[in-house]
Formats: sequence, C-alpha cells, structure tokens
Amino acid sequence: MLRKVLSGVVALTLVLGIVGMALAGEPGFITPPGSWDETYDVVVVGGGFAGLSAAYFAKKAGADAVLIEKMPFVGGNSIINGGVYASYTSKLKLAEKLGQPDSPEKHIEDTVVGGDFMGDPALIENLVYGSPIILDLLLDNGLQVRDMISRPGGHYGYRTHTTINQSGSDVVLTQKKMVEEAGVKVLLNTKMTYIYREKPMEGRVLGIRVETKEGERNILAKKGVILATGGFANNPDMVRVHVPWITDEVGCTNHPGATGEGLVMAKQIGANSLHECYIQLYPFADPNTGILDAAAVVPFNGPSFGIVYVDVQGKRYVDEGQRRDVCSMAALNSGGFPTFSIFSDEMVELFSTREDIEKYIKQDRCFKADSLEQLVKEINARTYKGQKVNMPADNLIATIKQHNGYIDQGADPDFGKKIDKGIAKKIVAGPYYAIPQWPSVHHTMGGVKITPRAEVEDLWGNVIPGFFAAGEVTGGVHGTNRLGSNAIPDCAVHGMIAGTMAATGKPPVLK
Ligand SMILES: Cc1cc2nc3c(=O)[nH]c(=O)nc-3n(C[C@H](O)[C@H](O)[C@H](O)COP(=O)(O)OP(=O)(O)OC[C@H]3O[C@@H](n4cnc5c(N)ncnc54)[C@H](O)[C@@H]3O)c2cc1C
Repeated sequence: MLRKVLSGVVALTLVLGIVGMALAGEPGFITPPGSWDETYDVVVVGGGFAGLSAAYFAKKAGADAVLIEKMPFVGGNSIINGGVYASYTSKLKLAEKLGQPDSPEKHIEDTVVGGDFMGDPALIENLVYGSPIILDLLLDNGLQVRDMISRPGGHYGYRTHTTINQSGSDVVLTQKKMVEEAGVKVLLNTKMTYIYREKPMEGRVLGIRVETKEGERNILAKKGVILATGGFANNPDMVRVHVPWITDEVGCTNHPGATGEGLVMAKQIGANSLHECYIQLYPFADPNTGILDAAAVVPFNGPSFGIVYVDVQGKRYVDEGQRRDVCSMAALNSGGFPTFSIFSDEMVELFSTREDIEKYIKQDRCFKADSLEQLVKEINARTYKGQKVNMPADNLIATIKQHNGYIDQGADPDFGKKIDKGIAKKIVAGPYYAIPQWPSVHHTMGGVKITPRAEVEDLWGNVIPGFFAAGEVTGGVHGTNRLGSNAIPDCAVHGMIAGTMAATGKPPVLK
C-alpha cells in the first residue's frame, strides 16, 4: 500500500516536473561540462532581498561570491516592494514608544495562525528571531524608516516598520551598497538556464549554466549554489497549473521577471517542493491596473487606526484587521467591483504622510472631499475598468456612524474586528478620503523545500549537497497565507542563513 502511495506521489511529481520543464524549455538531465568558464566559491542566483543578503553574508564569511541576475538591474520584486517590514523590535524601539511592546512569541504565533498552521515552525522562528538582526544591520548601513509602527491584517502586535519612502527600493539600495562595499561581483543580464548536478537526481550541485549577451557560460560553484530567484506569480501558466480559477482577468502586482524558472530548474535535478497551490492575492491593488502602487499600501497600514473598507453599496464587507486571503475573498464575494478604503484627515499621519496622500490625489488614486456625501459623488464620478458604481451616500454615512459606535464600544459585533482603544480613531471630521482597491495576484507561498539551515531537500527528504535556497523561491515558511510585511525578513534572514551556510557550513546564531 505504502509503495503504491509513494509511487503515486513520485508519478505526480514527475508529471508536474514535466509540465514545469516544458515551461522552462529545458527538459532532461545535462551532463556537467568537463571544464568551466568561471569559478567562484559561492554562486548566488537572483538579486532581490534574498540573493543580495546571501551574497553579502557569503562574502563577509570569507567566500569568493558572485551574484547572477537575469535583468539589467538588481531588485526583482524587492525593488517595487511597499517597504513594510515586520520585526518585533529594533534599535529604534518604535512599538515600545507607542506603548505597545511586542514579543517574538507573539510574532511567531500570528505567523503560524496566519498561515493556518501549515508553515514550518522552525523556518518561522528563523524569520522572527532574525528579523531585528537584519533590520538593525540595515539601519546601521543607512536605511531610514518612518517614525510610525502599524498593525496590519493578521498581525496582532505593532511590529510593521515602514521605510522612509514606503518602498522596498530603500532596502534594496542599502543592500546593494553593502554588497558592493563587501566586494561581491555582480553579473547583470545573466540568466541561469540550468543547474548542474553530478548525476541525474544524485550527488552534489556543481554549478550553473548561464545565458549572456555574449553566449552561454558554465560557472563552477566550489562551495555551493544559492537559489534566490523569487516567486512565480507573473507566470500565468504556472499559476494556473496550481490554481486554475485564477484567470488572466485577475491582475498581477509582480515584476516581469517573477516567472519561476528557478523553481522548475531545481525540481529538474530532484529538489522537492511544497505548497505551490497557496497563491496570495493582494486585496488592495489599483482596480484599474492590478498594480500595487504606493497608494495601495495605505489600506494595508491603516486597519488598527480605524480605516474602513466598504463595498460598492457603501457597506462594510470584512473585518479590516483580517489576513490578506480573507480580505481578498470577501472583496471578490462582495457582490460588486471594486471596494474602497475610507478614512479621515485625522488618521493620515498615523499610517501615511500628508505629502504622499496629496501625491495620490494628484494621480487620482485617492479622492478627497469635505463631506461624506461629496466623497460618494467623487467615488461615483469615476470609472473602474470602464465600469461605473452607484454607491448610495446614505449607506456610507450610516456605515461610518455605526463603525464610530463600535470604536467607542471597543467591539465590532458585525465582523469581530479587534479594536485597540486609544489607537483606533473615529471618522468624524473632514476632509474625508477614499482609495479604490481590488485583489491582484501577489505572492507564491510555495517553492523548493528547505531545511532550517536553508539547504535544499530532495524528493526523499535528503539534503542536496552544495544547494541552498532563500526567499520567495522557497516554500513552507508562510503556510497557506503570508502575513504582509513578513516577506522582507523571510527573504533577508534566509539569505543570511544560506550565505553563511554555503561559505562556512555553519548557520548564523539568531537567538
Ligand atoms: C509590488 C509588491 C510589493 C510588496 N511589498 C512588500 C512589503 O512591503 N513587505 C514585504 O514584506 N513583502 C512585500 N512584497 C513581497 C516581497 O517583495 C517579495 O516576496 C520579495 O521581494 C521576494 O524577494 P526575493 O529575493 O525572493 O525575490 P525577488 O526580489 O523577486 O528577486 C529574484 C530575482 O531573481 C531574478 N531571477 C529570476 N530567475 C532568474 C534566472 N533564471 N537567472 C538569473 N536571475 C533570475 C529575478 O529577475 C529577480 O531579480 C511585495 C511584493 C510585491 C510584488
């Protein structure tokens, strides 16, 4: 019986592998070359949070490290990221200053629960305990964050830091500087097309084949290859293999390079993978484009401060403090398109800045009015993907009045939202603001299976020697659903572990 189950699992894996190989266009096993064009100790593939971190730590640990990036610049999804970073503490002590100190245990619990207990607790511990180590290191290297701390959906502690420009580019540019100062060689426009292993499904990972403008090159990695190629949210075929209901009509927040071939190449040489069917929609993207722009971060940072989400009828449809998957499904099932975040002037500086909100108004991504009636007129005056809405002003006024009462009571009988008394604000005076929002494909929680030491496992649970992975290309960290602001620490911490492991064979001490 067990044999039948196992052969079924292997057959399914092979079928998915073949589908994946077809997507990557690189079927079969390729014998390693007799001689190599370039040699390094550690070869890091992918220049996002994970790869930049891996390359930096490998180099700092004494290895000759190279970073390979297929695009003309480093950054991947990381550089277009919203700049929100979850860390239970930091040298800035922002949560402590708000009178809301957090703890690693609470961060771990929220992450485990937020992923429906499917995340690997050991990987979650890495993320949580490593998070302040990386944040403090980035701050020491010039990263600036805003003097605010938020509690977005699924988090029940104030731990989400926002970078000064509310952009992942603040982190990437700091990491890039660190990598350059450390002396890591960076090869741009260099695409990995194959991972060499000694034998089919057996032996050590030796190096990679890359495609460059000058042709193909084979690169030997004496100590290890680190896969940090990111997720596959921008590969519609791969997304649909795992989640067929996500059609082309659903937008995507990702950069064009998030196409997942790194994951397919890893599977091609026997790496195990998990959780590819867990694909997250970001609930607050621009309804017209599907893009997660800066305005789309406001609804994310706002819930604990009193922001209200309403449907086209002007009625609440969800607990605003809920996880992204819950908010997305509630929006899709709200009976109309799109939904809106409503807030008032008093709240602006709690989760954004006046300059930013004015910018979004100029871009027509945020609407402003002196009364709620006028705000509804602004909402109804626009089209969303060519469609009009007809929100009744009376409904919005009644919804806001009722929600104000819930804030006074400290309880939300409709959706059970946790209300932090003294922090959540009522919407009582103008100007009032609305931001339209709609779910868009965002994060792939699945990927290659790694150990807590960032070693890639094979289909039989053995470590593949010389092969490490970090970041969105891995699976099993977040479970069914990633909590917002947990990806930066996941990527950077596991990058640190992978880089240190590849260079020294030992993981860094996190606690
Ligand atoms: C718009 C947006 C906003 C986000 N905001 C936040 C946020 O505020 N906070 C948060 O915690 N998370 C956020 N996330 C999630 C987070 O940004 C990503 O999970 C994270 O950037 C992934 O980092 P990574 O290093 O694994 O991959 P990436 O940053 O995507 O980097 C992977 C790199 O590998 C390269 N690559 C891929 N294949 C190859 C190949 N074959 N050869 C060579 N190079 C290759 C890619 O070009 C890319 O540069 C956001 C995501 C998006 C899309």
